[in-house]
Amino acid sequence: MTGSARRLSPRSLVQRELATSERFRTVSEIYFALADRKHRASLSTVYRTLTKLADSGLVEAVHLPTAGQAYRLRPREAAGPYLVCVGCGTAISVPSADLAAWGRAVAAQQGFSDVRPRVELWGRCKDCQSGVNDNDSQF
Ligand SMILES: [Zn+2]
Repeated sequence: MTGSARRLSPRSLVQRELATSERFRTVSEIYFALADRKHRASLSTVYRTLTKLADSGLVEAVHLPTAGQAYRLRPREAAGPYLVCVGCGTAISVPSADLAAWGRAVAAQQGFSDVRPRVELWGRCKDCQSGVNDNDSQF
């Protein structure tokens, strides 16, 4: 690490850290990754920064039933909904045409308009099932 890296804003630090992985990661996972690299940012600063980045659309968030909110940089290509591994945070984009049609139909039946579907699917990936991934404690 260079001296200039220490002077990066929390936003830059968090964005840099997020760029190192395509997995969804929790606030504490990102906090400890920064701490491992000797970056000083409090847990609350990391949390606030991730929330702001998610609000701005640069970062996407999912809610994992076992770990709460998890974040990653938004991919350039269209993504989501995701099938997210609760063991390691791996996310696979799944086709959503049927889901969108179902959402519009249900909304129309109830008289809703401008509905934006939000679907999250959780499970365990093959590596986590077989024990290849050894990071279940993070989630
Ligand atoms: Zn997994």
